[in-house]
Amino acid sequence: MVNAIVGANWGDEGKGKITDMLAKEADIIVRFQGGANAGHTIVNDYGKFALHTLPSGVFYDHTTSIIGNGVALNIPVLFEEIQSIVDRGVPRPKILVSDRAQMVMSYHILFDQYEEERLGGKSFGSTKSGIAPFYSDKYTKIGFQVSELFEEEALKEKAERICETKNVLLEHLYHKPLLKPEDLLKELKEYRTMVEPYVCDTSAYLWEAVNAGKNILLEGQLGSLKDPDHGIYPMVTSSSTLAAYGAIGAGIAPYEIKKIITVCKAYSSAVGAGAFVSEIFGEEADELRRRGGDGGEYGATTGRPRRMGWFDVVASRYGCRIQGTTDVAFTVLDVLGYLDEIPVCTAYEIDGKITTEFPATAKLEKAKPVLETLPGWKCDIRGIRKYEELPENCRKYIEFVEEKIGFPITMISNGPGREDIIYRNGK
Ligand code: GDP
Repeated sequence: MVNAIVGANWGDEGKGKITDMLAKEADIIVRFQGGANAGHTIVNDYGKFALHTLPSGVFYDHTTSIIGNGVALNIPVLFEEIQSIVDRGVPRPKILVSDRAQMVMSYHILFDQYEEERLGGKSFGSTKSGIAPFYSDKYTKIGFQVSELFEEEALKEKAERICETKNVLLEHLYHKPLLKPEDLLKELKEYRTMVEPYVCDTSAYLWEAVNAGKNILLEGQLGSLKDPDHGIYPMVTSSSTLAAYGAIGAGIAPYEIKKIITVCKAYSSAVGAGAFVSEIFGEEADELRRRGGDGGEYGATTGRPRRMGWFDVVASRYGCRIQGTTDVAFTVLDVLGYLDEIPVCTAYEIDGKITTEFPATAKLEKAKPVLETLPGWKCDIRGIRKYEELPENCRKYIEFVEEKIGFPITMISNGPGREDIIYRNGK
């Protein structure tokens, strides 16, 4: 059985925690898109970890972790990450890398930096990990696939060709040092040595695994609103963040994905530029940021303070719908325990009209939040394991959100740890 774990919002919903938790019952965990630009923070028996490339299921002895063909594979980052968890006592993970995955090259990272520099104040707020130049090369068909590393002559010829193309831009657009084919070839050969023991046809491996009835998790990065098609274009990421893409980025049949667990945060946070209708500012935002997540809402990769906002029904309902949600995991609810009253954005006002549909970007930029206020519960709900034991106002908040978004909340996360979870039976 294949299940997907994906985000309803702008990312940082706590997918890592939910994946780590559900991986206990899984055989295989697959990353199917994105790269080392965003991170998952996981707290478990081994400590606290920020993962960027490894799937969040690597902490168990019994799991196999797959880097699928849809991933932007930064080989040095992957290997640093493996080493860093092994150094902290985690058993050496079993990892397979798709022979069809493409690699983030050092020049992708440079082009990302140069382009942000060139755009100045109009930049996208990129993490400068090379992701946009990487995917752009993939679709221009000048990317390097892992399988190509093993074809010596063709690799040399391609390295020369790529340098020619890239050097035009480096010289005339960015005025930066040029690439040398011999350096590029050296980099590629280093990557070959590092990745060789792990490479396989992961799609064929997954086909066998599905047929053998294995339990497979697909782990998404970021969330619905960062999807290049359905998100807040152009302030989006460069690969699809949707469960549907899980089939493509892992190489499995779409109908094999049985459950789509959409992780939805009890308040909002976002990184990077772009419309954020329920955003709050000043002291109100600082306090939520300070108390948020596990030790504050700061980017796992960049350390950047996240933008903060109240729960956005319009964005979350859309975010859940576009994922094809079967189950909602409602996370970081414990963080809201300090508030007397909790505002929720239940609709948008656009050009004087009220709507609950999430519009495309041009309209979204004009949207103003319509807020409703719910009473807070004013206590710490961490440690509670049964739904009935949650304070009444807390249950009311959950049920209000569930009713408004229109998808069943079957799990409630009330702390960063694996055990901080409340299952709602019968949902
Ligand atoms: P991801 O990218 O979706 O995995 O999310 P991040 O890891 O960037 O952000 C989630 C943060 O919230 C991490 O620091 C988690 O440890 C933390 N976290 C996850 N679930 C909960 C929760 O229910 N309560 C609290 N307080 N923190 C949580």
